[in-house]
Amino acid sequence: MIKISSLSLSGGQGKTTLTVLLARYLAQHGKTVLVIDCDAQANSTTFLGVDIEEDDPTLLEVLKGDIEAKDCLYEVSERLHLIPADDGLDAIGDYLSSSAAGALMLKRRLKNISGFDYCLIDSPPQRSQISSTVIGASDYAILPCESSVKGYGSLVRTLEAIKELQDLEVTNIATLGILPFRDRWVGARRTNESEKCINAMAQVLDQVFPSIRESEQYKKAVSNRTTLEALGHPDLEYPFEKIAEKLEGIS
Ligand code: ATP
Ligand code: MG
Repeated sequence: MIKISSLSLSGGQGKTTLTVLLARYLAQHGKTVLVIDCDAQANSTTFLGVDIEEDDPTLLEVLKGDIEAKDCLYEVSERLHLIPADDGLDAIGDYLSSSAAGALMLKRRLKNISGFDYCLIDSPPQRSQISSTVIGASDYAILPCESSVKGYGSLVRTLEAIKELQDLEVTNIATLGILPFRDRWVGARRTNESEKCINAMAQVLDQVFPSIRESEQYKKAVSNRTTLEALGHPDLEYPFEKIAEKLEGIS
């Protein structure tokens, strides 16, 4: 199972959009996928359509070691499962910081999980014990990044956080690529801001995936719990097709 995190240490950069739509795309194309929601906002949990009752186990109990990860798998569809989050997840910060192995906790808890081709990890928007344990558990990161000055700044901070943990030899994570998010076009032309930002992203990392364009259709696919293809926009799945090809090449 290849573990890939959707990482960006800022809000609204497309982490959840990437996680949910890539998970559905891969499952639709015959792969078995486990999504882990590592954000207390629980947006991936909501958009994958899993309702959590008060006493239901979530990632919080898995990280604390109260239950095994394999006993916390919720079926979304035939090939797609979820380890969900709820707003209690923030409480894990103290637990993780009290352990010397905090950054390795998620990796450790996932050790006995098998039967999935890919594990996609949605992550929180700020630097925290949770983001560190996500980086510690991941084989690869995809870095969604809004095509704006704010997005570029967040990309730089995210890469710094990854490098710090790599230098500490806590993780072997490799960056798979940057995914430009909310790429704005007017007619047949990309806006100057998007153009500049995407060019700047290409200076930071060789691999820049085809962008997610500014479009209501992505929001619609996520909130209607469906795919872009089912909405009649298979062309908008191109970024996910390219990411899937890249993943195929490393598996
Ligand atoms: P957070 O850090 O809060 O978890 P995030 O990085 O997970 O945010 P998303 O929730 O995926 O980011 O997206 C941010 C916002 O952009 C959401 O309100 C979403 O509906 C919207 N959005 C998603 N795709 C597009 C798109 N293609 N064009 C414009 N807006 C979009
Ligand atoms: Mg999110």
